Amino acid sequence: MADAYKLDCESESADCRFIIQSENETEAIELAKKHMQEDHGQDYSDDELREAHLQVV
Ligand SMILES: [Zn+2]
Repeated sequence: MADAYKLDCESESADCRFIIQSENETEAIELAKKHMQEDHGQDYSDDELREAHLQVV
């Protein structure tokens, strides 16, 4: 099975249950970035998201 990239927002913010999972890293980062901006008002760079928030499952 291919690796999937996962962002579990609940581990960042206790009251958010947003989860992204995608086999496409670019897509996962894009969705994560959009969610962080729109729902949390926070700007992350691709690298920050990749290194600090994205899990490979
Ligand atoms: Zn969230």
